[in-house]
Amino acid sequence: MAGPAQRVLVVEDEEKIAQLVAKNLQAIGLDVITAADGTTGLQRFRDETPDLLILDLMLPGIDGLEVCRQVRKTSRVPILMLTARRSQSDIVLGLEVGADDYLVKPFHVQELVARVRALLRRALPETEGPLRLGELSIDPARRRLERAGALIELTSLEFDLLLFLASHPGRVFTREALLERVWGQDRVVDTRSIDSLVSRLRKKIERDANRPRYLQTVWGTGYRMAEEG
Ligand code: CA
Repeated sequence: MAGPAQRVLVVEDEEKIAQLVAKNLQAIGLDVITAADGTTGLQRFRDETPDLLILDLMLPGIDGLEVCRQVRKTSRVPILMLTARRSQSDIVLGLEVGADDYLVKPFHVQELVARVRALLRRALPETEGPLRLGELSIDPARRRLERAGALIELTSLEFDLLLFLASHPGRVFTREALLERVWGQDRVVDTRSIDSLVSRLRKKIERDANRPRYLQTVWGTGYRMAEEG
């Protein structure tokens, strides 16, 4: 099982461009969400935790540079900015406030797809080797979990949840967000399924499931993986 699809957020007010980008990224297996202005873009970024952000600089309301600044306060997500040919200074500013790459409009959509692939690939090394968290060693390639050197058997779903949360240490996810990311959008499951999955996973990874050191409940919000073991 490959795990959940990587998700891209496209913040672009020109609907034709947004649609074109979305269509071509979906065609390579990415999950694409869109926003047509900066405020919605920031909201969706917080709600949907994308793996990559495509950001037009000229947006109604909060502009792309400000969106980029806001996102960089909390996230190292790869950011590809889109800009008009005339705004060379915007490119410089965009890179200064944390964009990773840029494309000048009009661009060839194949070029965009290539940049997106490169950025996602570059972002991967963080999860390529085993992730270490306290006593836990999570190996995404072999889908194995060890605690203090001992192999722990997990179901596929338990592993997906663990890997997803451990790939975003410290970040809080709502039950709805976890449902989408771990189960996928097409599965009809209740948010309580997340609670029982969390509880099963805790029994396996925690020394004391009632006082979890790793998989923490954030009351009224959801769950997060501890940043430090
Ligand atoms: Ca625009």
